[in-house]
Amino acid sequence: MGLLSVGQPMTWEETKKLSQHVREHGIIQFINLYKRLKDRQGDVLKWGDEIEYILVTFDDKERTAKVCLRAHEILSTLQIKEEADPEGVKSLWRPEYGAYMVEGTPGQPYGGMLAHFNIVEANMRYRREEVEELLKDGEAILSITSFPRLGCENFSHPPVKATPHSGATRSLFFPDGAIFPGHPRFATLSRNIRERRGEKVAINIPIYRDERTPIPIDDSHKKDKAARPDHIYMDAMGFGMGCCCLQLTFQACNINEARTLYDQLTPLAPIMLALTAASPLHRGFVADIDCRWNIIASSVDDRTDEERGLRPLQSNRFVINKSRFDSIDSYLSPEGDKFNDVPLIYDEKVYKKLRDHDIDHLLAQHIAHLFIRDSISLFSEKVHQNDEQDTDHFENIQSTNWQTLRFKPPPPNSTIGWRVEFRPCEIQITDFENAAIVCFVVLVTRVILSFKLNFLIPISKVDENMKKAQKRNAVLAEHFWFRRDVSMQTAATQSSEPQEAAAASAASTDVYTPMTVNEIINGKNGEFPGLIPLINNYLSGMDVDADTHCTIQRYLKFISRRASGEILTTATWIRQFVTGHPNYEQDSRVTDEINYDLLKTIKGIQSGEIPCPELLGYNPVSKTTEDIPPVIAKVAGH
Ligand code: GLU
Ligand code: MG
Repeated sequence: MGLLSVGQPMTWEETKKLSQHVREHGIIQFINLYKRLKDRQGDVLKWGDEIEYILVTFDDKERTAKVCLRAHEILSTLQIKEEADPEGVKSLWRPEYGAYMVEGTPGQPYGGMLAHFNIVEANMRYRREEVEELLKDGEAILSITSFPRLGCENFSHPPVKATPHSGATRSLFFPDGAIFPGHPRFATLSRNIRERRGEKVAINIPIYRDERTPIPIDDSHKKDKAARPDHIYMDAMGFGMGCCCLQLTFQACNINEARTLYDQLTPLAPIMLALTAASPLHRGFVADIDCRWNIIASSVDDRTDEERGLRPLQSNRFVINKSRFDSIDSYLSPEGDKFNDVPLIYDEKVYKKLRDHDIDHLLAQHIAHLFIRDSISLFSEKVHQNDEQDTDHFENIQSTNWQTLRFKPPPPNSTIGWRVEFRPCEIQITDFENAAIVCFVVLVTRVILSFKLNFLIPISKVDENMKKAQKRNAVLAEHFWFRRDVSMQTAATQSSEPQEAAAASAASTDVYTPMTVNEIINGKNGEFPGLIPLINNYLSGMDVDADTHCTIQRYLKFISRRASGEILTTATWIRQFVTGHPNYEQDSRVTDEINYDLLKTIKGIQSGEIPCPELLGYNPVSKTTEDIPPVIAKVAGH
């Protein structure tokens, strides 16, 4: 079986009839796997990154840049090496939603050694070069979060037309031909989400209002009543899932450490989203937001009117407050319990079944909550399974709950342990930036576990932060709720506290305080140590060789500068490029020509041919000791 081997997707009507079947067996499968694996111990720290890329075709005569629909062809070649030698390859390649997207990961996970930070960037460069070797003249592989003119007239090469009245998507703008054709999953998801919802998805994001921005911005509102005239309107899964991100996966030593990581990384998700913001352009317009997050959330929002609370419940079971793609709704560790202040929706019977099989309250409610969703993609040969061995029905629901964090049980019959996936970050232009973000987040996890830090704040505050994180220039302009005292050990002291008192003290504003990203990352005089000083403190107790020290400090310096505003976020840089372009007409439009110049410049920055100190700080290609501080002294309290 090839890596892209296909199955027979079922229609939405068939899938719908089997939704209860999938849920029931998915829960049994989870119970079985939990029994098998809950006591699994002694796995070691491993981690890896995932990068999604967009393939672009430049036409230097016409001065256009289009998405290149050759991902399927290129992936088939990329995967030959893996099929021949799965253990030996340096990279693994997977399809993504777009016919113009590829996703690459390192061939093997990295381990606990700090020296592994020295190879992260090199591996990213290797992956890029591996694809570049397969490209034709004029083609490029770019790590950009959103393609600026996705869904505009002639945005792809070869051109494909949108089909508003037929096919999976039925978009005014996004053609089915831009969906990855090599596996039916993607088109099936698009169709079933639309059919389950009862109408097309509707994505409206605020336009960046410039001097000559026309309102209405176009005539979308005449064609679709869901379109808001002063918003950028998009009506297809591809506008969201056709965006790219940077993800990290961590293997924990056991299930409890995985729960701790899941919880502790949760408050960091909005902070990292703001810091990595990279997508201010959509469907040929400049938006007034900097991130992809809500766009993807709306792009896969399969909730019916009833579930969205627009009509009284009749044929559906729950009013659900979020899309399948959004930030997590509950913590999983005992320390997190009292910060679970958002009522969780789940089926009592499912919850009870999990509890009857000795699954604790926190995990049971998490799984039961994920299982309020229907399967939206089912393959006929997967319907009947051996619940003792298979986990497909569980994975079916789990993998279509796209949240800021994902709690991942070990796959059947593998050497892989309990894992946590960190999913909020947007992708950056250069391998240097992406490597810096990866190493920073990995170091934060080391610090959390070594110093037993506690970042927890109420889930409702994390939700508020997620909204703020996407605003224009959030990294400098917003204050985020963040925990005042991260060294506070709550588990031991408060476990004897009665539930209500514990919840009250968690909700108390003593626990959290508004902070800027700069204060969170770099510290606030006398009040908050800052994540980078905490990392440096951690490193000072480690034996770090000179090379690794140099690598890490280069990355931390970069993160520090992004947080302080000394250098620009990708989103701000892109916005400034467009609004500063000589042909920009102050009308919030990204014309073909601006798009071409922007993407050419991005290509040059990514290869190092165009220096961009306002984005990167200094030439990241040459690794020097310049600007690198000595490991700083211990932070008070640790
Ligand atoms: N491309 C999606 C994003 O930007 C993630 C898809 C996935 O789960 O791999 O968040
Ligand atoms: Mg992906």
